[in-house]
Amino acid sequence: MAEVRVRFAPSPTGPLHIGGARSALFNWLFARHHHGIMVVRIEDTDLDRSTRAYEELILESMRWLGMDWDEGIGVGGPNGPYRQQERLHLYQPFVEQLLESGQAYHCYCSEEELDAERQKLTAQGQTPRYLGKCRNLSQQDREEKCAVGRKPVVRFRVPEDTLLVVDDMVRGRVEFESDGIGDFIIVKSDGIPTYNFAVVLDDALMNITHILRGEEHLSNTPRQLLIYQALNFKLPRFAHISLILGEDRSKMSKRHGATSVVQYRDQGYLPEALVNFLALLGWSPEGEKEIYTAEELAQLFSLERVSKSPAVFNFAKLKWMNAHYIKEAPLEDITKQCVPYLQKAGLVEANPSPQQWMWLEQVVATSQEKIEYLAQAPELLQAFFGETVILDQSDEDAKRVLALETSPAVIAAFLTKVQEVSEWDGDLVRQLIKEVGKNVGVKGKALFMTVRVAVSGQSHGPDLNALLVLLGPTLVAKRLTNMLASL
Ligand code: GLU
Ligand code: ZN
Repeated sequence: MAEVRVRFAPSPTGPLHIGGARSALFNWLFARHHHGIMVVRIEDTDLDRSTRAYEELILESMRWLGMDWDEGIGVGGPNGPYRQQERLHLYQPFVEQLLESGQAYHCYCSEEELDAERQKLTAQGQTPRYLGKCRNLSQQDREEKCAVGRKPVVRFRVPEDTLLVVDDMVRGRVEFESDGIGDFIIVKSDGIPTYNFAVVLDDALMNITHILRGEEHLSNTPRQLLIYQALNFKLPRFAHISLILGEDRSKMSKRHGATSVVQYRDQGYLPEALVNFLALLGWSPEGEKEIYTAEELAQLFSLERVSKSPAVFNFAKLKWMNAHYIKEAPLEDITKQCVPYLQKAGLVEANPSPQQWMWLEQVVATSQEKIEYLAQAPELLQAFFGETVILDQSDEDAKRVLALETSPAVIAAFLTKVQEVSEWDGDLVRQLIKEVGKNVGVKGKALFMTVRVAVSGQSHGPDLNALLVLLGPTLVAKRLTNMLASL
């Protein structure tokens, strides 16, 4: 294959969404698989909705996911500039060429006229489209319209009765009738080209060989094909990737949960997990394996195994995958990433000392296997923080255990033992609890669960021994005193 050149061309009108991230990733995997070139450029012709802040956020999301690019925004290259607003002068000669050859023409219709036409067609049960009122205006007609201050748009003259065929690498042969399309706008009255026009010029001028993008753009493709033909540009290959659906099989949206990459980052999903998960949304390598590094994915990626049917976004699977990566990560890294969440919850102070960091690592270690996403850290680890214990009122088991006849005696006996030591380790803790059991005459749940609830306010949580050791006898004594007083 000749050099593969792909592109990701986001519109900076919002953060990078899951669907966009997956399109970017498929392009990246395809480029890396073929040792090709990945171009990133910005489609900012929607002047009202495009912002530099969103552009930055999108690029930041891509970098966070670990995607790099060879040409385009931020890296430069021979085909710049890479923002459409900065390319307007490059589009102009092509507009003139199409106007001169008669493949495009000026349209002076007002919004009201176009509205009326749309309504009429809809009422007749037809597809609303432009019927070509200004197709054959004379020079004089045009001058008159201009004289009264009408600003024209430029429309592409769509040939009649022509079959347009997209030979799609994912969807196969897809046919469109040109008659359903209507002469479409390629330059708006303010001189800004429309998406369908600018995208073709960019792709052609940047020698893009493969266009991998979301299925929602499939219906644009026949318009783009017409422009390729009119300007004699070499056609790239198209591959339209299926939609992402929520678990109820409707199009993935905010209702289903977080939709932007930064939201997942902020909840504490690891980029490796998100990349792994997104890669398997609509593509699958051979075999049963589900955990892949980005390099493995790039090695295996092929469009042949991209599915035609929609991909369902399975949150449980994403959490499972993220938990896997958290479990596998070095404890030090995970601790560093958990601490900001603990600080935000007011559990850890701003600048922990080196000793505190060591302690925090041991705290995080007790739950590294259980964390699904890092924002869970405060909830999972709260038992390690604070002098007083608040009984979790929704925890029926905890309440039941505290109500046991033996519980006050267990707590009091344990308190006495704890006050006798100034430091302890796991063995000593075990021994002390055992002695309490013997003295009070209880064992099993009535012993261990009582101690747990008295110390943490909950019937579940981190390993009891680890909890006690890391809290230390002084703090445990305070909590027990407190709990006894509240009984
Ligand atoms: N700017 C378009 C979008 O963000 C991409 C269009 C394309 O890939 O052709 O959806
Ligand atoms: Zn018109």
